[in-house]
Amino acid sequence: MFYYDSTMLLIIPVLILAFYAQSKVHGNYKKYSKKQNLANLTGGEIAREILDRKGLTDVNIYPIKGVLTDHYNPAKKTVNLSEDVYYGRSISSSSIAAHEVGHAIQHATKYYPLVLRTGILPIAQLGSSAAFPLFLLGLLFSIPIMMDLGIIFFAGALLFHVVTLPVEYNASRRAMVELNQGILVSQEEISGAKAVLNAAALTYVASTLMALMQLIRLVLIRGSRK
Ligand SMILES: [Zn+2]
Repeated sequence: MFYYDSTMLLIIPVLILAFYAQSKVHGNYKKYSKKQNLANLTGGEIAREILDRKGLTDVNIYPIKGVLTDHYNPAKKTVNLSEDVYYGRSISSSSIAAHEVGHAIQHATKYYPLVLRTGILPIAQLGSSAAFPLFLLGLLFSIPIMMDLGIIFFAGALLFHVVTLPVEYNASRRAMVELNQGILVSQEEISGAKAVLNAAALTYVASTLMALMQLIRLVLIRGSRK
């Protein structure tokens, strides 16, 4: 039990980072939601402009419910923007819309990390839901092979987080390139967009570190039960 508790110490700094990243995302999003872009374009209009520029006229854009629910759906080839982003004319709306279009461009150009991420998604989902039950059953009934299987499954889930990092950073990089071409014009707009996108990227770093720490914890607990 003491051992179990001491491995919890690994999680605490990462929890703090995750909390910091989340508050940064919401803080920057709110701050730059109040600043209108000078071009006076909605997120929906910006997404359409960039998609058309790239020849992706077959990708549709839809408004969806919720806050920060924005995502690209590769199966349907749709850019789904939360209503605030779709209809909003702020720096936040511009940067998030451009980021989601970044994923559509990755999909169209078969950007390898995205292809890999999509490929391992079902395995990772299975892995992350089966890993803990397997490990705990192995721990409770002293069945080492079940604990090992739990660790292997969890490693699959970690891999998914790792592959997500280049996908997210690259989508934001593409977004900035496009926004820089006549959509956002002032220095304040550019640095605001960067702040919004960097904060979002940090949340992915935090969840990857969290998964890594949990994996290390499982390995340590496993090692103490030989
Ligand atoms: Zn993204």
